[in-house]
Amino acid sequence: MAEKKEKTGAEPPKDQLLEDVYRIFESYLRMCKMRRTPERYAVIDAVHQTDGIFTVDQIYNHIVGKMNFHLSLATTYNTLDLLEKSHLILRHQANWKGDPRLVHYEKCFVQDVHHNFVCKECGNTFRFADKSLMGAINRIKRAGFRPESYTLFVYGTCARCHNRQTKAKKQESKTNKRNIEK
Ligand SMILES: [Zn+2]
Repeated sequence: MAEKKEKTGAEPPKDQLLEDVYRIFESYLRMCKMRRTPERYAVIDAVHQTDGIFTVDQIYNHIVGKMNFHLSLATTYNTLDLLEKSHLILRHQANWKGDPRLVHYEKCFVQDVHHNFVCKECGNTFRFADKSLMGAINRIKRAGFRPESYTLFVYGTCARCHNRQTKAKKQESKTNKRNIEK
């Protein structure tokens, strides 16, 4: 720990949760024989400080802008990849479209129950908690499994993106009509 603190200049973990996250990530790095670098810790800290869904750009801007720490976008992306492989964050497939910068992530080390509507177009998330949904999940009994926390994602299109798509479609059919009339 002392060695790490010296290298990063970062403060020691403020809470138990972050300590647990470090521990899980460190054991993953050990398993893969990878180094514990200050850059990797900066990405964990930024993820820890971010609420809800985030992209690689948001984490990168947070580190460079708010944390005043310098690293490359590629390192940020690679570290998010490692965090995903160590099951500390979750990658949303919906909005990807083949562009890594459009990938949305969410941390899965937060111990609370919540539900999300996720827009496939813009990635916006609308968080809610619904007692009847929670009850339904708790009523499912599977071989003595005791559910503690979970996150539910419902993918779709938000009102703003839906309106934009409808307008674009209308515009397209108008243009097509005009072209046919010509
Ligand atoms: Zn949207």
